[in-house]
Parts: sequence; C-alpha cells; structure tokens
Amino acid sequence: MKRLMPSWLRRSLGARIVAFSLALLFLVQIASFSAIRASLGQHARSVLPERLVVGERVLLTLLDQNAQKLTEGARLLATDYGFRTAVLSNDAETIASVLENHGARIGATEAALLGADFTLRGASGSDTRDLAALASRLATRAARGGVAGEIALLGGSPHQVVLVPMKAPVVVGWVLMGFPLDTRLATDMRKLSALDVTLLTRASASAPWSPTLTNQPAGLAQALARQAWTAAGDATTPMRTVTLDREEFGVHARWLTPQAAAGDAAVLALVSLSIDEAVRPPRDLQIGLAAITLFGLVVFSIGVLVSTRRVTTPLRALSTAADRLGAGDYTAPIDGLEREDEIGHLARAFEQMRTSVGEKQAQILNLAYWDSLTGLPNRVQFRDAVRDAIAQAQAGDGQAPIAVIMLDLDRFKHVNDVLGYRVGDLLLGSVGERLSQQMVRGGDLVARLGGDEFAVLLRHGDAALAESVAQRIGAAFDEPLKLEEHTVDMGAGIGIACWPQHASDADVLLSRAEVAMYAAKRRTEGPLMYDASFDAASTQTLSLLTELRQAVEHGELRLFLQPKLQLDTGRVSGAEALVRWLHPTRGLVPPMEFIPFAEQTGFIRTLTMWVFEEAARHWLALQAEGLPLTLSVNLSTRDLLDPDLPQKFDALLVKHRVPAEAYCLEITESAIMDDPTRALATLNRLSALGFRLSIDDFGTGYSSLAYLKRLPVDELKIDKSFVMSMEKDLDDAKIVRSTIDLAHNLGLTVVAEGVENAKAWEMLRELACDEAQGYHMGRPMPATDFAAWAAAWLMKQPHRAVASTNMVFH
Ligand code: C2E
Ligand code: CA
Ligand code: CA
Repeated sequence: MKRLMPSWLRRSLGARIVAFSLALLFLVQIASFSAIRASLGQHARSVLPERLVVGERVLLTLLDQNAQKLTEGARLLATDYGFRTAVLSNDAETIASVLENHGARIGATEAALLGADFTLRGASGSDTRDLAALASRLATRAARGGVAGEIALLGGSPHQVVLVPMKAPVVVGWVLMGFPLDTRLATDMRKLSALDVTLLTRASASAPWSPTLTNQPAGLAQALARQAWTAAGDATTPMRTVTLDREEFGVHARWLTPQAAAGDAAVLALVSLSIDEAVRPPRDLQIGLAAITLFGLVVFSIGVLVSTRRVTTPLRALSTAADRLGAGDYTAPIDGLEREDEIGHLARAFEQMRTSVGEKQAQILNLAYWDSLTGLPNRVQFRDAVRDAIAQAQAGDGQAPIAVIMLDLDRFKHVNDVLGYRVGDLLLGSVGERLSQQMVRGGDLVARLGGDEFAVLLRHGDAALAESVAQRIGAAFDEPLKLEEHTVDMGAGIGIACWPQHASDADVLLSRAEVAMYAAKRRTEGPLMYDASFDAASTQTLSLLTELRQAVEHGELRLFLQPKLQLDTGRVSGAEALVRWLHPTRGLVPPMEFIPFAEQTGFIRTLTMWVFEEAARHWLALQAEGLPLTLSVNLSTRDLLDPDLPQKFDALLVKHRVPAEAYCLEITESAIMDDPTRALATLNRLSALGFRLSIDDFGTGYSSLAYLKRLPVDELKIDKSFVMSMEKDLDDAKIVRSTIDLAHNLGLTVVAEGVENAKAWEMLRELACDEAQGYHMGRPMPATDFAAWAAAWLMKQPHRAVASTNMVFH
C-alpha cells in the first residue's frame, strides 16, 4: 500500500489528509451525480410512450393541415368559373391546362378531374391508371360525405390525396388533388415534437416494407423496415423498442392507409426517438452539476488545506526543532508550549527532553574536552585550540607563527609497573603541574593528549622561542619528582613543529610535532625541531614492519650458525644462532638493519620464537650427524619482559623433543637493567627449566659482577670490542684478563667473541679463557653448512685429530 503511494504523499501528512479528503468528496459527488442521473433517466423513460403517442397526434395534425390545404385548393378549382365552364362545355384542352396550372400553384403534383360517375376526364401528373384506381376507391366515401381524402401510394411513393365535388348545383364532377409526402413532414415533426418520423411503404401484403421517407440514418431506417408491423398490434402498443448498434430506440407505429385497401398496399408512419438520448440529462444540467462539483472541490480543498495547515505547521515546527536537537543545538526553546491540544503536549515533552539532554550534553562536553586526571585540556580541546590559533593567525595578516611542543615521558610504563598505577597517576599530575609552571605567557596552552603524552601550544611563538621553551621543559625534567616516599627520575622525548613553517593545518602540525618527538626519543639528545627527514624515516619504518611480517610468513628468514670453540682443545663446543633475512630484492640483510627495529616494535618476540624453533631443528639434525652442540640463542629486552616466555619455550621443547640443555640463552646487560625485577624472575624460571644462561656483550654496560652474581647465569661473553683491540690496547687486555679472573671466581664460563686472528686466540688461551668465537675460526654460516664446516675444521688440526676425535664428538 505504502509503496503504491507517490513519495510526496508519503512524506507529507498534510498532503495525505488533503488527498484523502478530496478523494472522499469526489466519491460522494460522483455518487450523487449518478443518482441524479439515474432518477432523471428513469423519469424520462417513463414518459417516453406518452411522448410518442403525443407525437403521433402531432403527425396526424400535420397531415390534417396538409389535407385541408389540399381541400382548399381543390375547392377553389371546383368553384372556378372558367374551369366549370370548360367542364360543362367539355373543353378537354382547357381542362388539362387549368388542372396543371392550378395544381402547380397550390403545390399539388397530382390534379385530376373526374366525372360525376368518378370516371377520369382529365389529369396531370401521375399515372392515370393509379389515379383511376384511387378515385374508384375514394368514390364511395366521397359520394357519402362530399369530401374524401387519404394517403395513398402513387407511383410507389406515399401521397396525400383529396377529392372534392364540383356542384352546379348538382354534382357535375369531382376534382382530385394530391402531393407527395416528403421530408418536410419529418422536418416539421422534429421541430414541433423533437421526434423523428419514418414512413414505410409496401406494395402488397406480402411485399417487404421499405422506408420511403425518413430523416433517420439509413441503417436505422432499414432496421425499422425489417421489424414485423401488424396493424392490430401496433394500434394498441404505445411504444416498441428497437435496438441498433446497442442504441435503443422507442417507436410508435401508425397505419396511414386504410387497412386492406388497394390490394394491401400500405403506408406506415413510425414516430421514433433515441431512448439513450432522451434519458440523458440535458447538457446544461450536466454542465451545472459539473460546475457545482468543481466548485465544491475547490471550496473543500481550501477548507481542508487550511485546517491541515493548522495541524501540520506546528508539527513541522516541532520536527525542525527535533532536527535542531539532533544536530546538537540545545539552545533554542521549543514553540507551542502554550497550546492545550495534543500538539502542545508533544511540544512540552520535547521541551523537557531538550533541557535534560542539554544538561547531559554539557556534562559530556566537559568530559570530552578536559582530562579528568590532570585537569588539563585533552587532545580534542588541544586540537581545536591549535585549529583556532591557526585560523586567527590567518585572519590577521601578520601571519604570527604558532608552535606546538609535544612530549612523551620515558619509561612511564615502568613506573606504572613497578610503583603501581596510583603513583603513576600522581606522576602524570605533577608532570602536568610542572609543565604549567613553565608557561608564563598568558596565551599558551598545556594539554595532556593521553597516556604519558603532553603538549604545549605557543600562540605567537616562532621556532626560536619554541626551542627555548622546550629546553626549559627539558631542564625542568632533570629535577627528580617527589611522589610520596618515592623519588622518580623523569625524562621525556620532546618534539617541536611550527606553523606555517612545517605544516599548513592543525592536524599536520600535530602529527609533525609527534614525528619530531619520536625522533627525539630515539636519539635521546634533547628536544628536536621537526625535519622532513624524520618523516621519511617513519614511513620507512612502517613499510619495514609489513615486510618483516611477510618475511616470516614467506620463509625469507635464514638461520646462520657461528661456531664456538674450546680454547684449550680446539673442540667445537657450540654455535651461536644468528638470523639473516634473505630479502627478495635487497638480498641478504644483516641483522643490525632490522633487529633494533624489531625490538622497538615488539616484533622481536615473533622473531625469537622463529629462531628458537629453527635452532631446535638444526640441533636435532646435528645431533643425528654426531655433533652434540649447545646452540646459543639471543634474547632481547622485550623477550625478557614477556612473563609467558619460559612457558612458550617449554612448549617448544616438548614439541620438538629437544632438551633444555641444548640451548644457551644470551642476554645483554642492558636487557636485564631495563627492568631488573621482572628480568630476574624470568631468568630464574628459565634457569629452573634447565636452560644455560649467558651474559652477552659483557663490558658495554655498567652492571657490576657483584650484581651479576645474584643472577642464575652460567656464562659470560666478553664483548668483541675489547677482544678485537686486546693485542694493541693494553687497557682492553687488562679488562679482558680481570674479567676472566673474576668470572672464574664466580664459577662462570668465559667466552670471548670477536677473535679475528691467531694471536688473539693464543692470548686468550694463555689467559685461560674457556671458549672463543670469531672470524678467525669461522664466520656465521648457513646452518645447513655447519656439519661440513665442522668436519673440515677437524681435518685442519691433524696434530689434535687423534686426541680430539673423542673430545669433539664425545
Ligand atoms: P651478537 O649477539 O653480539 O652476535 C655476535 C655478532 O658478532 C654477530 O654479528 C657476528 O657475526 C659478529 N662476530 C663474530 N665474530 C666476529 C669477529 O671475529 N669479528 C667481528 N667484527 N664480528 C664478529 P651479526 O650476526 O651481524 O649480529 C649482530 C647482532 O645482531 C648480534 O650481536 C645480535 O645482537 C643481533 N642478532 C643477530 N641474530 C639475532 C637473533 O637471532 N636474535 C636476536 N635477539 N638478536 C640477534
Ligand atoms: Ca650474541
Ligand atoms: Ca655479543
């Protein structure tokens, strides 16, 4: 139903009411119109027979008038002196000419003189035989009544004929006059009675009727002729109906010839009318009705429109108000509250909703623009403020510069984790305070963007000013924060971006400041002003991460092994697992190009798992070849901070059926120092599982051996920077020596990495270092090449071959 409605009707209630009312009114009008029509028609139909009978009388009167005119003319001739003289003197020639002239004068086509015995003595016009027959038929009546007349067929067409006596003073003859009945008769009928007349004739009782006079269409005349007309029946039937082409006609028949006369030649008059036409209401009545209908519709429409307006206008006002509310404008009050009807009710409900939603909205707005923890503006408000500042600067032609300083606290998560969230919150609060204290100018704005990110907006601040403010902020962070009983050292990465120098709009300005901030965090050299090169770096980073993910999925990573050897025997005791990336276009990518990045993004965890599993496979393979080695795997800070790491490793051991003793896990000092408590927990669990643990790159950090003593480690790996310079640098040699001694005192095995030549090997051997790793013995190689390398290594040391066979493959 709804779908059938045009859309404008569906959308407007007013239009629908108007349309519906008009449709109703229209139906009512149609109904009354047809009722009027029907009753008019009925009435008209009931009087039809009477009309036809009246029509018949009119016809007869017309014929009578004709007859009188003829009789008059005939009498005039009968009394004409000249004519009588001619008749009496039997002057045939004069008789004939007078008959002709006089007949023509009165419009008669037939004129004849008959003797007293009704014999034809002279004639003009028709066939004399017909006239004689006619005369003999009229004779009896004329003899009785003096004048006789009838309608007769002369030459096949109906004529009106009269017979008048000529007296002198006795009857000396008869004058006959006649003229044909023509369409004039029908025309007169039409004029007088609005009825049609048709004359049918037939030559004998058995002959068919044929229409001889009519003003009706030929088709109807023929149809009438085909009906069965009987003299007796027709006289008593006022109306018969004849149907032609679905149109109905009412017909009344009147025999004009005396019955059974002249061998049953007959003339029949049919008075007729079209019933449909007769019952149709007259045109002016129709026009009148239509006009009334139209007028009614117009008046009614106006009425309905006006009253609908009174409903829909306030409704529309309410709907506009609702739209306003929807768009967030709660200021304008709703109209129509004073009305007492349903609309007033609705308006009051709306008004109530407006005020209560408005209040809520204000609350929400407050929440939406302020940071509840620090009471500072939040990111949304800050962004709006930056936008407004730019708009204002653009409006004033001075183009006063704008600067945004963005900060991200270092190790905030660490504070949260170690000291708890409450202290974390306190810290954020006092950072906010400290920042606000740095702002002495009125127009500047400090905001907390979220998490441990803060920002400062400097209106009318150029790059130089921004840099000095940033320096001041950095200096402010140098002073430790006192939070309850804790003293916390805070640092922050600080980035600066300026408008219009670095960005054309607020969003870009903010993101540039952020980019600068991350760059500052990476470099840890104090506040940094945005530079286009940072952006390039950060986009590279993103694509690198995607590529790294694919590297794992597409099997682009390779495991390399670098041998670890026993210094005293030269035996291959283990190997360090080192990852390589066989990039489809860049070739072999060294780990320093993606490991630091993987550590930053946390992807290192995935990578570590991959290395750990790969090492398990190769350990099994080497084992099968008779090479039972300890494989060293590198762990990074992120791995250590993952509390599930021991569990994950354990699961992989079970999966590959490899013992924990097959592994040595290398951890750098700095990885442990990032979060010593958690690192220690993880290391304890790893050690408990049976993993061998090694401190990697020893000497580069600041951890004391005393501290390391508390860790469950088995091995210490002296950083290659010391080993490589050991032969030339005496200080480094001393460091190596003391490290070896101290480590041995603590019961740790010592490994030296970066052994690049035989001299270093010898020195280390003399210092009683336990193991060595370096290019001198072997570079990192594809893990699959390792077994072959080990065999070749063995062959290169013939003097030890016999003795070491057992030792190498024990
Ligand atoms: P690292 O753990 O200290 O690994 C030893 C690095 O020293 C390796 O570099 C090795 O090729 C190199 N090296 C060994 N002997 C010598 C030598 O005689 N002279 C010189 N100049 N260098 C030598 P590589 O393979 O390029 O790895 C660099 C660093 O990348 C590694 O340092 C390690 O921190 C990291 N890395 C490599 N693979 C992995 C891994 O699978 N996981 C983790 N977390 N880090 C890895
Ligand atoms: Ca290592
Ligand atoms: Ca190392």
